[in-house]
Amino acid sequence: MRTSYAVGVDVGGTRIAAGLVDRKGRTIKEARTLTPVAAGPFGIVDTVIDLITDVSAGAHPSEIAGVGIGLPAQIDFLKQTVEFCTNLPLAGVDVRSLIMSRVRHPVTIDNDGNCAGIGESRFGAAKRVRDFVMITLGTGVGGALFLGGEPYRGSRGLAAEIGHMVIRLDGPPCPCGGRGHIESFLGRPAIAVRGREAAEAYAAHAIRAEAGGDAANVTAESVINAALKGDEIARTILLEAGEILGEALVGIVNLLNPKLIVVGGGIGESCDFLVRRAAEVIDEKALAGRRDLHVVQAELGNEAGVLGAAALAFDEHDSREGLHR
Ligand SMILES: [Zn+2]
Repeated sequence: MRTSYAVGVDVGGTRIAAGLVDRKGRTIKEARTLTPVAAGPFGIVDTVIDLITDVSAGAHPSEIAGVGIGLPAQIDFLKQTVEFCTNLPLAGVDVRSLIMSRVRHPVTIDNDGNCAGIGESRFGAAKRVRDFVMITLGTGVGGALFLGGEPYRGSRGLAAEIGHMVIRLDGPPCPCGGRGHIESFLGRPAIAVRGREAAEAYAAHAIRAEAGGDAANVTAESVINAALKGDEIARTILLEAGEILGEALVGIVNLLNPKLIVVGGGIGESCDFLVRRAAEVIDEKALAGRRDLHVVQAELGNEAGVLGAAALAFDEHDSREGLHR
């Protein structure tokens, strides 16, 4: 049966969002709440179940294809297990079975970067593009690879950890335990450190003002807000981040020859100049794959994760039922 709706859930380190979504990517009913990190794995799972129950009430159960859930974790997609999770205590927790035993629909879990990529592919900046790379710049740096029209997950589903590629051997420590990874330069904490240093060292008044006057309270958002209001020091910090992003993407362009690179996440979506700087670096330094390549900002914002997770649930339903997209 060709069902009309799916539930998409986007589990983040700070908030969880869920939506009842139709096949055109329209959200019929949505719900969101803060992630109860202190409540432990079962508290988080219970919260996800509550949100699914809430939004599912917008349709008859027989109309719902299933539930897709994006987690900020490395997922073994074939076994549907959580292998590694730095921001939430979910590693080794059988999230899918726990949720499926309480909601009446099939559940599929995937990495949140993959879900954002599926969302942009189906409904956003990468519509009708078969080969593209998504990179999300947020608290962490994630991404998705779409090769030949499908998400590329690697042999077990652990691929596309773009944020954990080494770009400087002696670089700063990364939250994953490694060193010199893209995330250690471009994640929110790294931008905040640069902003704090500037606010302390060169009396960067605009950045400091965005943090309520105290350099110790500078966050990535203080830097972004100051830059968007025209502050040169803040802009320089973010342009340097754009240059590092560009250098990292040169390797990806040379390796994969994508048609499109979509830069998302809170930082990617608010800083068009950072994305343009990355595109310039690619244009200067990549091999022939730079020709015809477009580098764009993501279009779906916070909705990408929920819409992509719902699209994943539709795809899984349709392949179970032998339906074609
Ligand atoms: Zn790392």
